[in-house]
Amino acid sequence: MTCLSCSDLHVSFKLDRCTAKAVRGVSFDIDDKSTLGIVGESGCGKTMTALSLMRLIPDPPGKIEKGSILFEGKDLLKLPEREIRNIRGGRISMVFQDPMSSLNPVYTCGFQIIETINQHLSIPRKQAEELGEKVLSEVGIPDPSRTMTSYPHQLSGGMRQRVMIAMALVCSPRLLIADEPTTALDVTVQAKILDLLHHLRETKSMSMVLITHNLGIVGDIADNVMVMYAGEVMEFTSCKELFENPLHPYTRNLLQTIPQLEVKKERLKVIPGEVPTLQNIPSGCPFHPRCDQASERCRNEHPGLTLSSPDHHVRCFLYDKQA
Ligand code: SF4
Repeated sequence: MTCLSCSDLHVSFKLDRCTAKAVRGVSFDIDDKSTLGIVGESGCGKTMTALSLMRLIPDPPGKIEKGSILFEGKDLLKLPEREIRNIRGGRISMVFQDPMSSLNPVYTCGFQIIETINQHLSIPRKQAEELGEKVLSEVGIPDPSRTMTSYPHQLSGGMRQRVMIAMALVCSPRLLIADEPTTALDVTVQAKILDLLHHLRETKSMSMVLITHNLGIVGDIADNVMVMYAGEVMEFTSCKELFENPLHPYTRNLLQTIPQLEVKKERLKVIPGEVPTLQNIPSGCPFHPRCDQASERCRNEHPGLTLSSPDHHVRCFLYDKQA
């Protein structure tokens, strides 16, 4: 069964002299109890896509221009603000990149967790406190009652991220969006947080969107992967297929940048060039200035998303069977 269906999403930002298109015609489905990994370098539209799912695009200057996001029989883009507030943090919740800037430093963790519960559930305070402690324990916090009375600065980075995850889970969401949940953490803590998210996704029977710039991270967790570049979907397929048979030159470049364990006397691969700014997206294929297989056609024509094999979508002329 489909948990969420996003179709032809367009998001833009009004700048001083022009309009920047941050998300350009993005479509995808997330199945129930599955994980979708959204991968790409910074500035490729991953976070803007995720924020749109919760209608968190700052308007102005941002605007969701068109598209639909179907969730539990409703188009989230058409719901009144009051209704979307009930869904946000309740049926769909989000874990942000940096727990220190997401948690309020002047309130205890318990206060912030109970505030989330009060927004969505009508239960007495005592019960809310018990629920808060239960969820803190589920995310692996060793002393939940003490953490309830602690301020964010009294916890380590890993523990703060666990508190953020607890806050996101406390109202039993159907969909959890984790936006670069490990980027601000030490390497040793990153694997533990990813294991925790994977474990919670399975035990809580929810769906998850995992946003990352590191393709290596989605390998162990995601069921499907969507690779984004310049606000567009470049490749979409199952995680297994993507790692066994990556098609798009950008995906193949991303795979080459994953550090390998064997010590080789060679430099870590990098993708030449830079992600284009949203005001200056190249004509034709947006990846053509960085692509070593670019042809004249790539510079002039914009490739569409085509089906290379069942369930494997790719936006590249190399796989355009019409050509
Ligand atoms: Fe490279 Fe052309 Fe494919 Fe774009 S369409 S990824 S430039 S080969």
